[in-house]
Amino acid sequence: MKQILVTGGCGFIGSNFIRYQLSEYPGQSITNLDKLTYAGNLENLKEFESHSRYHFVKGDIANQDLVESLLKSTSFDAVINFAAESHVDRSILDSSPFIQTNIVGTQVLLDAARKQKINRFLQISTDEVYGSLGAEGLFTEETPLAPNSPYSASKASADLLVRSYVKTFNLPAIITRCSNNYGPFQFPEKLIPLFISNTLEEKPLPIYGEGKNVRDWIHVLDHCRGIDAAMRRGEAGQVYNFGGNAEMQNIEITRLLLKLLGKPETLIQHVKDRPGHDLRYAIDCRKAESELGWKPETEFHAGLKATITWYQENRDWVNRIRSGKYLKYYEQQYGNR
Ligand code: NAD
Repeated sequence: MKQILVTGGCGFIGSNFIRYQLSEYPGQSITNLDKLTYAGNLENLKEFESHSRYHFVKGDIANQDLVESLLKSTSFDAVINFAAESHVDRSILDSSPFIQTNIVGTQVLLDAARKQKINRFLQISTDEVYGSLGAEGLFTEETPLAPNSPYSASKASADLLVRSYVKTFNLPAIITRCSNNYGPFQFPEKLIPLFISNTLEEKPLPIYGEGKNVRDWIHVLDHCRGIDAAMRRGEAGQVYNFGGNAEMQNIEITRLLLKLLGKPETLIQHVKDRPGHDLRYAIDCRKAESELGWKPETEFHAGLKATITWYQENRDWVNRIRSGKYLKYYEQQYGNR
């Protein structure tokens, strides 16, 4: 792997992945194609701005001309598609950008990858495509897709497109499906960074319904190592699940955060439940363990404490995002291109 194209690399997981790749593999170069939506932040990769092995391109994965010329201009060994609209609540308010980026954008990338005979295409997907579990059981790679939100439906659609390009065009693509990530650089609209940031400011923590919904939590670096293993050792046409073996109810995680930050539970504010709210996600990742030699390494409490420390030490980053100042930063750095 000498040249990799990452899409959506200015977001939470993509930026952690790029940092991991650049530090782990000295012979490898990364091009990052990102539209810089509200969730994309150049500051996440500020230290690589003038790095010789890192190249940023501002653009939309659904822009066919741009994507085709980018893939023609460089001989990429792998394309890794992180770019997405990623927030369930926003997909309930307006699903159109989800259809455009998550489905049409993936189709444009797949076609360009097919034409350029790309040897590795990774689609970064989510356990939410499997729908919801009851109190028992785990999602395996064989679990039928049954998405319940416009977000997860758009991701499931993209997964099916990827599958069809494997079957129809022999595109050497792999799909990875991961549970909820947490860690540094996560946009403060998702549960853990939102609740840490609100707690630090002593603002209420809005929790859906009774907070009994269960999610499995994985540290973002464990996810990045899994994607790396799938890219290097995965078999074309396969799906790999990644999880953190850390199932928790939302209310439990909220109480834990408050305890670790030394704040009272009176900050918890129960709000009307999200429509179509999936009850429980839990992942069986034995396939990734046996076939990729991967397993999650971060113990949840240790990972959560480190994440809290990161948010405490990077309050300016959070404040700039919340005030929209990072957009000004972009124009200052890069003009309006
Ligand atoms: P994010 O919202 O933090 O980042 C998304 C990035 O994609 C941003 O930089 C944004 O600017 C960029 N982007 C959006 N639309 C684009 C477009 N049309 N063209 C180019 N770039 C575009 O998301 P994340 O949490 O880092 O998630 C990354 C991927 O991982 C997504 O595909 C998501 O579905 C998947 N995933 C996320 C989680 C999680 O817990 N966060 C779990 C499993 C899978």
